[in-house]
Amino acid sequence: MEIVYTDNNATTKVADEVIKEMLPYFGELYGNPSSMHTFGDQVGKKVKEARQRVADFINADPDEIVFTSCGTESDNAAINAAIKAFPEKKHIITSNVEHPAINNLYKHLQKTMGYEVTFVPVDKKGLLDLDLLYKSMSDNTAIVSLMWANNETGVLFPIEEIAKKANEKGILFHTDAVQAMGKIPIDVKKTGVDMLSFSGHKIHAPKGIGVLYVKKGFKFSPFLIGGHQEKGRRGGTENTVSIIGLGKACELARKNLPIMNTRVRELRDYLQTQLLEKIPGSSVNGDLEQRLPNTLYIGFDAVEGESILLMLDREGICASSGSACTSGSLDPSHVLMAMKVPFKSAHGSIRFSLSHYNTKEEMDIIITTLVPVIQKLRDMSPFWKDGKMV
Ligand SMILES: *Cc1c(COP(=O)(O)O)cnc(C)c1O
Repeated sequence: MEIVYTDNNATTKVADEVIKEMLPYFGELYGNPSSMHTFGDQVGKKVKEARQRVADFINADPDEIVFTSCGTESDNAAINAAIKAFPEKKHIITSNVEHPAINNLYKHLQKTMGYEVTFVPVDKKGLLDLDLLYKSMSDNTAIVSLMWANNETGVLFPIEEIAKKANEKGILFHTDAVQAMGKIPIDVKKTGVDMLSFSGHKIHAPKGIGVLYVKKGFKFSPFLIGGHQEKGRRGGTENTVSIIGLGKACELARKNLPIMNTRVRELRDYLQTQLLEKIPGSSVNGDLEQRLPNTLYIGFDAVEGESILLMLDREGICASSGSACTSGSLDPSHVLMAMKVPFKSAHGSIRFSLSHYNTKEEMDIIITTLVPVIQKLRDMSPFWKDGKMV
């Protein structure tokens, strides 16, 4: 069976060009980039090229790029550096819809180190309460950390505007740009962020490689203490193969960025329009404008997300649900709860996240599969009667 892969916010296919770029460094070119000999140094040169490619993609200097093991490590390293730089400041600001890599870290700091954390709320459309955000910034704030794009809804926060406000008040600003990367243009110089995280496996590089951009001039303390790698900012022998792959992936993502905003956006909009039209009692979660071009998070009244996913899975369609079924919890996702989406439609929410590998034919497969699936589930649902939710 052919797979229809529309779960790109969870992870992406490693691009063929990326695999090709990495292969020699799995095999004969196994040297250590820090070695004095030519054999190691040829790997060092390739790592340097990759660092340049990554830097070019976000308009950073190569010296501002720190390679990590994943997006989660980048987030942890950024927050760790902030609290080390300002040990006397005991307040941090974030939103209530962040990825667990930020959310759970802040809860941990709250519990174990007595930090006061402001979780700025979002409205029904997933947009941030900017007034409250700006009011909560104070001299005691060590860092403001906000995601650029939400992984579930795709909703975008106005990062440039927020970074400017934080800068004016002399507060450090970090953004988790894992989902924004490769989908919208990112220019760290123009935006004025102090630190920015992203992850390889969300942009067609392998899993287990991440980046933390650290603006020049910031006194950064390493999270992993060890050797002098990454100019003393991250100990541990470099993951040379994945770094080289990520460099290539950034080069490709730069080329593919216009496609995201045209062809991929058109596919997403087509899927959205067709589903809303053909399935009554359906609605999109999150703001329709301030949103990534590849993400559709759509709720169907009176059905269970997990049941929909299982039935799609039988047809080879990969998508994702909003409910936290993996954690054994019956609550819908914390993002939908933060947006106060009504319980009965939050439970039936499905996220389709596209990439430039998707096609119109695949969208049609999803549409023709999903319409009868929802009908069938509603026929069995006690919450659905006479064509509407009860
Ligand atoms: C996937 C993701 C992460 C974590 O990245 P990993 O490389 O899987 O650790 C962090 N933040 C957001 C918004 C994500 O979507």
